Amino acid sequence: MGDFNGQTVLVTGGGTGIGKAVTEAFVAAGAEVVNRHADVSSQSDVDDLIRPLATLDILVNCAGIIHRDAEYDMPTFLRVLDVNLSGVMRMCTACKPLLARRRGSIVNIASVLSFLGGPRVPAYAASKGGVVQLTKSLAAAWAPDGIRVNAVAPGWIATQMTQAIQEDEQRSAVILARTPMGRWGTPGDVAGPVLFLCSQAAAFITGAVLPVDGGYLIS
Ligand code: NAD
Repeated sequence: MGDFNGQTVLVTGGGTGIGKAVTEAFVAAGAEVVNRHADVSSQSDVDDLIRPLATLDILVNCAGIIHRDAEYDMPTFLRVLDVNLSGVMRMCTACKPLLARRRGSIVNIASVLSFLGGPRVPAYAASKGGVVQLTKSLAAAWAPDGIRVNAVAPGWIATQMTQAIQEDEQRSAVILARTPMGRWGTPGDVAGPVLFLCSQAAAFITGAVLPVDGGYLIS
């Protein structure tokens, strides 16, 4: 998984699910992980989070929300965009000066819904599509600063975000039938690829979006 000794990592949404697994994997690989809570939709929260940091090597943007069947309501639509897309931009721009000093890297959490429509979650799908374009744009803009910017696009991962769908036998069966690997992913399945993208093994990779979906997007 790489040696992250001496590196400082910031994970948003690091208290649960995928973010928690990413945090644990970085700690196991020797990194120091900053895990203070900040609301990524608040510029002042983000600024307060970053200000005390002396150094930063890696930013992983895992914070995200979804409001199934409620995102046609305009305030809800805007809220999802503000957390999932603008929140990533806020964190990336706030961390850029520190990351540039260490020639660091960023991994954003996109989704298979970055590529597919989400009729029950139009804001979520739009936000995750935006995360992919933002990732590519920042990768191109910040390559001269030595900052790599990549994303992973998880498929169906068993976390609290998908709890209701896991418990819906019919819906879960449809998902599993479309997933060539035939199972739900675990948060740990996503953590490995995140560490890879931050590691020296990925030193020439930027602007990439790596599906972590058991093959969901290929069928
Ligand atoms: P999760 O609900 O466990 O994690 C989301 C985290 O974001 C939580 O810790 C929550 O506290 C935090 N968060 C929410 N709003 C925030 C805000 N305004 N500021 C800061 N933190 C905030 O679910 P998860 O599945 O682990 O999701 C992690 C990421 O993975 C999300 O971006 C999600 O969209 C993405 N994702 C999940 C799946 C899946 O199937 N579970 C698939 C694709 C992408």
